[in-house]
Amino acid sequence: MSIRTNLLLWGRVRPLLYGGAVGLVVLRHQFKAFVLHTLGDFYLIDIGLDFLSFIIIIEVSLWGVTHLYHKTVRRLVDTRVYADRLQALSRLGQVLAAESDETRLYQQVVTHLHEALGFDEVRLYTVDGHRYQHLRAFVGHPPSVQQRLIRPGERGYFWHSPRVHWRYIKDISSRTSTYLWLASGSEVLLPLRIRGQIAGFLLSARPEVDAYSDADLELLGMVARLLENILLRLQEYREQARFIAELSSLHATITDIMSQRELPVLLDAILQRAIRLLNADGGDLGLYDELTGETLIVASIGLQDQIRGERLRSDEGAMGWIAKNRKPLFVQDYLAWHNRSRRYEKLPRHTQVLAAPLMASGNLIGSIGIVHYGAENGLQERDMDLLERFAQQAALAVENVRLYQKAVQAAEKQHALHLASQNIVAALTPEKMYAAVHAAVRQVMPAEAFMIALLSRKRDYFIPVYVIDQGARFKSPPFPSDQGLSGEVLRTGQTMHIHSVQALEKKKKVPHFGFDRRVQSVLAVPMRLKGEIIGVLSTQSYAPYAYSEDDATLLSILAGHAAVVLENTRLFAQIRNMAIQDELTGMYNRRYLFRRAAYEVARAQRYGHPLGVIMLDIDHFKRVNDTYGHGVGDQVLQIIARTCQQMLRKTDILGRYGGEEFTVLLPETDVETTGFVAERLRTTLSAHPVNTDAGPVRVTISVGMTAFLPPDDSLKALFRRVDQALYKAKNNGRNQVCRVLRDEFSGEE
Ligand code: GH3
Ligand code: MG
Ligand code: MG
Repeated sequence: MSIRTNLLLWGRVRPLLYGGAVGLVVLRHQFKAFVLHTLGDFYLIDIGLDFLSFIIIIEVSLWGVTHLYHKTVRRLVDTRVYADRLQALSRLGQVLAAESDETRLYQQVVTHLHEALGFDEVRLYTVDGHRYQHLRAFVGHPPSVQQRLIRPGERGYFWHSPRVHWRYIKDISSRTSTYLWLASGSEVLLPLRIRGQIAGFLLSARPEVDAYSDADLELLGMVARLLENILLRLQEYREQARFIAELSSLHATITDIMSQRELPVLLDAILQRAIRLLNADGGDLGLYDELTGETLIVASIGLQDQIRGERLRSDEGAMGWIAKNRKPLFVQDYLAWHNRSRRYEKLPRHTQVLAAPLMASGNLIGSIGIVHYGAENGLQERDMDLLERFAQQAALAVENVRLYQKAVQAAEKQHALHLASQNIVAALTPEKMYAAVHAAVRQVMPAEAFMIALLSRKRDYFIPVYVIDQGARFKSPPFPSDQGLSGEVLRTGQTMHIHSVQALEKKKKVPHFGFDRRVQSVLAVPMRLKGEIIGVLSTQSYAPYAYSEDDATLLSILAGHAAVVLENTRLFAQIRNMAIQDELTGMYNRRYLFRRAAYEVARAQRYGHPLGVIMLDIDHFKRVNDTYGHGVGDQVLQIIARTCQQMLRKTDILGRYGGEEFTVLLPETDVETTGFVAERLRTTLSAHPVNTDAGPVRVTISVGMTAFLPPDDSLKALFRRVDQALYKAKNNGRNQVCRVLRDEFSGEE
């Protein structure tokens, strides 16, 4: 078919567009199309197959156009209204964006829906965490439900499932209306969601059945989206406002701190503000003690019982729970809680407890707990987050004050140290220097007991050169360098820090470090000279946990000064050269024996401890020398000394008193035991010959013994008596033990 024919045909068919009929007939085996125009024209057209398909297309189009016509016209009318409304809506958006008052904002939305968009009845509800519905704004008929708050299950409550969808009820007479005053009509319910949660509802109703057009519904949908954005913005705003309130609360707290610089004031302020922030009834605040794992209650407000000053164990109550778990805690009913502490027994029933850790630089420094009495208007799960954030800020504030106080203390200490160091360095004699070091230490830390001990040249003994006990100078004998706390300092080269001797005693781990039983805290630092340890400086306190790490540092500095001063003094060499051992036998020498005896006598005087003394002399030793020679005589002395040592306890002190005379000091030993030891020494030595290079040599010994006579026996009297006892044993025929327990011969001296 040519184009021409096509055009011609189009011209003929054109009238059909204005209404009419088109049909197809088969005449004389030929396809004919007929067209019946509305005006009565009738065409009968010969058609080929191509034309037939054309006609079919036309026919189909015709039907579509007629149908579309009606729709388009309606649309055109609707669209104009719709455009107006859209414009109104955008104006609403602008107005709302500038509105910050929540209630006014809601009212603006519904008023606008009513006035500018033509909705008669509109209500706006919000929904809270308890799923309570709050009527926030309405236009039109006054709400049939008088209360503005509707709880689930109450009349007028219309939310049943969190998955609730928008709904349009065309005829509410057939269903339960949410608009209770309407007996008939139509209504639209649109849930408003924030972050997937139902946050409110937009509700509209009209007294006519199916009164909402598609455009109406679409528009309400758009308003609902707009409202959702607004609600989200409000929620964020509220969160921010709360955050700002919290920050300003903290800011005020920190301002308090800065003016006060007192920890107790700060702690009270923190607690007060936490209670106010969360609208709680009371609470308390505890500081965590890292050493004991306990929490010390330092502030308490509004609790039934005054519990400030109490210490909670590491698993006791809410604070204990936090010390263990280091995260916030929410207890709905404290008295029904499995981990409750009996200290809070008087809290009323149904007390809510919300607690959070105070964490500073990853460390637990305490915890804060607030309480709310009764379940009404109570604390909520999300308050945990708020309290936790508050606690974080509070912890920083506490840490700040602590650091500040530490800095002040450190500065004071540094100043004292500076002055003290000058005194130490200015000292010309060791004695003056020791006293200067002691004075410096006393100024900056507790020092009920104090010791400076220097290492002997062979490094096998510590020589205590300056010992203070009970505020007075105290003479103390040398002691082996592998013993006690000083031995530990020498071995490790480290500062030794004991917080509580009592705690160590419980664990049976207490090292020997002194003699004063009241000492609880010990700090001992090495004294170094050019890297080498030359002594130990130790300060001790009757209070547990008396020393900090800073104190240890200060003591080390003082020890360093002391070491330098010592090197400059001539006496240092003399002290270090002081021998305490007898060359031949390896036992203590006479000088040490007397020093040690003086110390033991002083202890016995001070603490009333018993003390036994034995003196022994080999019988007819001249003969041994004469018979076997001096060398064998020496050997006998060595072997007898060793044998005696083996028979004595570790705490007994054996020394060579003179040529072939030995003395034994027996601390903590009564007369009977001392006599028993003396007798055992005598029988053992006489029973076994001494194996020398010249063969077995038989010797016997004479023994004198005595004991400390409380309360004020003297060193002199003690040695006089033991000497007398030995004299007695010799006079009575040798190879025996004699005792003198009273100053019987004192008059004859
Ligand atoms: P007794 O005590 O029983 O009265 O008689 P004794 O022979 O032991 O007399 P005394 O105690 O007075 O003598 C001490 C002697 O011990 C004198 C000395 O020859 C000897 N002696 C002292 N020191 C040493 C020493 O270091 N080595 C040797 N081999 N002998 C010594
Ligand atoms: Mg003798
Ligand atoms: Mg003798």
